Amino acid sequence: MNLELFVLGTGGMMPLPGRFLTSVLLRREGELFLFDSGEGTQVSLRKLNLKWKKISVIFISHTHADHVTGLPGILMLSSQVERQEPLYIIGPPKIKEYVEMNRKVLDMYINYEIIVKEVTKPGIVYKGDGFSVNAFPLRHTKPCMGYSLIEEERPGVFFPDKAIKSNVPMGPLWSELQNGKDVMLDNGNIVHTSDVIGLPRPGRKVSFVTDTQYFPEISDYVRDSDLLICEGMFKFDLEDSAKDKKHMTSSQAAKLTADAGGIKRMGLIHYSPRYTKYDLSGLLEEAKSIFPDTFLTRDGQQIDIPYGE
Ligand SMILES: [Zn+2]
Ligand SMILES: [Zn+2]
Repeated sequence: MNLELFVLGTGGMMPLPGRFLTSVLLRREGELFLFDSGEGTQVSLRKLNLKWKKISVIFISHTHADHVTGLPGILMLSSQVERQEPLYIIGPPKIKEYVEMNRKVLDMYINYEIIVKEVTKPGIVYKGDGFSVNAFPLRHTKPCMGYSLIEEERPGVFFPDKAIKSNVPMGPLWSELQNGKDVMLDNGNIVHTSDVIGLPRPGRKVSFVTDTQYFPEISDYVRDSDLLICEGMFKFDLEDSAKDKKHMTSSQAAKLTADAGGIKRMGLIHYSPRYTKYDLSGLLEEAKSIFPDTFLTRDGQQIDIPYGE
């Protein structure tokens, strides 16, 4: 099952030429999930040539302009396709008011159902086929949530050689074992699924954390992520200023990633507009000295998220 992330924008505060505002699109076997939607998100979607008008869920971290001003356009243009399924929008308090006011003032034509859900507490906020999305509160200048999409475990691998060794004839009994049922052979012997099927294999986990000041509990929520997209707005020398503005340095993002354990890759995002492309390499070096598997997300980047084994 394919799982890919498209980086639609990497900037914080204001869009720059070549650097749109922080937003990512996750595509899981064709189903689309958008995380934040700053000004210009549509342009990034178009540039990537994505068929994006049937997004299932939009997760909003918080209602600062750099994370939500792209939303009205997305809602409006989503009406250009026929859809039966509702569009869910999940975010912290005020997101409902923001969506309703926009619909009203802009006289939006919307030909599908929009279901808005406001969240403040940690827990599952959306359940899909074979996965769920967990939200957790961050610490910013207004209510803000982080999100993890977590796939369910997959059944273990079926070993035909073990079935043959246990004298299970190929055919319907194999299917029963593969479907998790123990079987009885003609000679009365019982063959258990655990004899022929390996342990369940973990699904994948992708986490999105922006905007927040550093606090150690973030690690608990993002532990074991195959991919963590995390704000690291400033260099180490601006740690005090980051704290005042309730943002993080790239070193703090790396620290929470390293402390969490089990994270395969961490992509920095939400760069301060003060940093040029060249400056960002310094941001990366500082983070890599703490968590080596850190990379700088780039606008337009496509990232495959394969299974662990
Ligand atoms: Zn921001
Ligand atoms: Zn913010």
